[in-house]
Amino acid sequence: MEMKTKEQYLESLRKMKFQLYMFGEKVTDLINHPIIRPSINSVAMTYELANDPEYEELMTAISSITGKRINRFTHLHQSTDDLIKKVKMLRLLGQKTGSCFQRCVGIDALNAIDSTSFEIDLKYGTDYHKRFRNYLAYVQEEDLTIDGAMTDPKGDRRLSPSQQKDPDLYLHIVEEKKNGIIVRGAKVHQTGALNSHEILVMPTISMGPNDKDYSICFALPADTDGIIYVYGRQSCDTRKLENSEIDVGNAKYGGQEAVVIFNDVFVPWERIFMLREFDFSTILVERFAGYHRSSYGGCKAGVGDVLIGAAALAADYNGVSHAGHIKDKLIEMVHLNETLYACGIACASQGNRTASGTYLIDLLLANICKQNVTRFPYEISRLAEDITGGLMVTMPSEKDLKHPEIGPLLDKYLRGVFEIPTEKRMRIMRLVENMTLGAAAVGYRTESLHGAGSPQAQRIMIARQCNLEYKKELAKKIAGI
Ligand code: SF4
Ligand code: FE
Repeated sequence: MEMKTKEQYLESLRKMKFQLYMFGEKVTDLINHPIIRPSINSVAMTYELANDPEYEELMTAISSITGKRINRFTHLHQSTDDLIKKVKMLRLLGQKTGSCFQRCVGIDALNAIDSTSFEIDLKYGTDYHKRFRNYLAYVQEEDLTIDGAMTDPKGDRRLSPSQQKDPDLYLHIVEEKKNGIIVRGAKVHQTGALNSHEILVMPTISMGPNDKDYSICFALPADTDGIIYVYGRQSCDTRKLENSEIDVGNAKYGGQEAVVIFNDVFVPWERIFMLREFDFSTILVERFAGYHRSSYGGCKAGVGDVLIGAAALAADYNGVSHAGHIKDKLIEMVHLNETLYACGIACASQGNRTASGTYLIDLLLANICKQNVTRFPYEISRLAEDITGGLMVTMPSEKDLKHPEIGPLLDKYLRGVFEIPTEKRMRIMRLVENMTLGAAAVGYRTESLHGAGSPQAQRIMIARQCNLEYKKELAKKIAGI
């Protein structure tokens, strides 16, 4: 088929039968649920823009498998140009949604598994790569959204998967059958799992010989029997149930996370892309994390653009935009934001071809990118809160503003620049609140810290990649040692 339209995506999601719980109750109608819908709208934007001729260059690509035009979110990077376009595409989507749009986990997982499965086959004579390419052809043909599922609950961090008292704290095989395997375990912090057609499971850490049964990679339809979802709470999430557009800050778009439980789930052989090759789990984890760390140089910069714009508007509405220190704070925000983008572009432009033909970002620069992401959005948020003012967290609700008696008084006393309606000022302040403290702060703040690996994970990679010995040699030579 052709690339899916936004409507076809929504229709395809409507047909899925997720086993989902939220607030202790089963949810059957995801599409119309006020807490879930904004996250679905964000993913829908990846379909809408791909069908807009204005964005064809960034949002689509020619498939290396079929030669057809496909949504870039299902593409294997064929060049550094593709890697750069991905970062630019994510910035664009961050600008359009002001939130996490979730589909990137899939493209990053697909690319990481492509090169890794090829290399496993080279070493062990297995046929994972062929299976994977067949699967990918199906994903491209149907224009599917994929949830790349990596993070296990991990239990006691001192212990490896096989050493845990509860063996299910890392996802593993519990039974091998003629036609496939049965798996048990869970994946946590799963971004966009319930907006996805497929769930693509990978191991989460380096594994040893005793962790063989935990070294698995496979894909399943996201609504497969036995997969149970529990929706993650976000700050201020129940504001979305109040029917007040202003108070949520960003009424249309949002992100989504869930705990995903695999309760003895069957996986057929043709959907398995790694099984017990524990020595490849490190490579798969490093590549997926590397791709996703480079993604943040795009998406966080795009969301940052919206936040900088909101802070600048708040300054206008407060009547302070002429002040030197405000101008300087906005410049500082831009400087930090563009540094993130520069890192994303840098690791993409310095990418290299892997043995399967798929391009991989420069791992050192991708980790530098993400290390900056663990810091700069916090500083950008701090400056946005500084400029916007305390009213952002103390002002009354939309219902008060619209109340026949108290409303006109609030309109009078909460006004900044007289010509700007109070409602506009409240809207922009709520948007800043949404991104720095509210529902979208999951994606912009805490996810900037922990998503794609916590800061220490990048520092370990930086230590591995930085070649300190070479730097010592340089110094010795110049010092005459
Ligand atoms: Fe995509 Fe960014 Fe969300 Fe990760 S945090 S899924 S890269 S938008
Ligand atoms: Fe993420």
